[in-house]
Amino acid sequence: MKFSKSQKLYEKGLVNLVGAVNSPVRAFASVGGNPLFIKKAKGSKIIDVDGNEYLDLVLSYGPMVIGHRHKKVQKAVHKALKNGYSFGASTENEIKLAKIVCDAFPGMDKVRFVNSGTEAVLSGIRLARAFTGKDKIIKFSGCYHGHQDALLVAAGSGLATLSLPGSLGVPEGAVKNTLIAEYNNLESVKAHFENHDDIAAVIIEPICGNMGVAIPQDNFLKELKDFLTSKGALLIADEVMTGFRSKFGGAQELLGVEADITCLGKVIGGGFPVGAYGARNKIMEKVAPLGGMYQAGTLSGNPIAMAGGISTLTELKRQNPYQKFDEIGAILEVILLETAKKYNVDLVVNRFGSMMNPFFTKNQVTNFKDAQTSDTKKFAVFFWEMIKNGVFLPPSQFEAWFLSSAISEKDIKIFANAVDKSMLAVS
Ligand code: PLP
Repeated sequence: MKFSKSQKLYEKGLVNLVGAVNSPVRAFASVGGNPLFIKKAKGSKIIDVDGNEYLDLVLSYGPMVIGHRHKKVQKAVHKALKNGYSFGASTENEIKLAKIVCDAFPGMDKVRFVNSGTEAVLSGIRLARAFTGKDKIIKFSGCYHGHQDALLVAAGSGLATLSLPGSLGVPEGAVKNTLIAEYNNLESVKAHFENHDDIAAVIIEPICGNMGVAIPQDNFLKELKDFLTSKGALLIADEVMTGFRSKFGGAQELLGVEADITCLGKVIGGGFPVGAYGARNKIMEKVAPLGGMYQAGTLSGNPIAMAGGISTLTELKRQNPYQKFDEIGAILEVILLETAKKYNVDLVVNRFGSMMNPFFTKNQVTNFKDAQTSDTKKFAVFFWEMIKNGVFLPPSQFEAWFLSSAISEKDIKIFANAVDKSMLAVS
């Protein structure tokens, strides 16, 4: 397999782009080697500039849930392009996408569209503070909620990948109202309430994908919600990754818990930049122009992105691939575990529907500390062997792998063959 064109672009990119990328994980920093440059993608496959084709389990870190370049999405976007790209005024498609989103999430009477998951979460947090009149927020270590100052502490995803405890440039004042709890540990949340009476909300990835996949144990989410209700604090579900992916109604539908505020992104734009936050009317009435919580955006509700979102969600609803995700996910999990056993490699696999990933450890992974016991050097070897054998994975131990409904029987064979070669290389 040749990577010479990617290599040339990487060198060229270094001149005017930081690390030749626009988002740090894409730099392949924790797995060594240089990043791949992508030419195009279709269905379950992605193709780099050297012409190498891969089964894509990155899927743009989640959005491409029905595969790349679905023809219905392309048609809808082409149609929207003919009418203009941005108006700074309302369009009918914003109302249509809002209805699809609110119908899927019973806890959302109203929604506000923004341009990214980061914006969705920072607005959701502002809303929780506006509604409760309190300042403090609890987040879980290993969860990632975008790159706003207040939440860049003990974060997963790229920070975990680069072993950064937080970010330079975040003033102490910006994180003084952020408290950290341990995922799957309700007592660690309760302890903060004993010490503080000004906690507005707890924010959580209801199924975590940013320390790798971590699954809420037993009744953790339900008990968390009940506890917060008893304290007059809000539950913010960061469903940027899980919304429309775990189920059409997100992790909340799957786990039977209704959050007070829900943040969305990724899948709702179908590959175009869309984020959203929403809640029941009594909370959303705080948002301007109805209320005094200000939040705005020049490109929010962008007509091209709305067309991408509506067509993706409409097709996703028609396909209803959630059972297929579960079945194929289970097959991939067995392939990973049995191959690891064959080559005597310590491995655990965490999986929930269409999100999964292995950890190179003996320990069960239920929180960030567990995830950090994984042997990241083994992951790096595994990663490159998977690439060489035609499977594109996130270049980090601390990212989830995603499935799309475009995945086929043939793809499963490609996966099995690549895992066999890669596990042998790790052993
Ligand atoms: N929240 C979660 C759970 C995420 O996984 C991400 C991104 O990966 C974000 C928020 C931030 O979204 P974006 O990268 O669109 O700003």
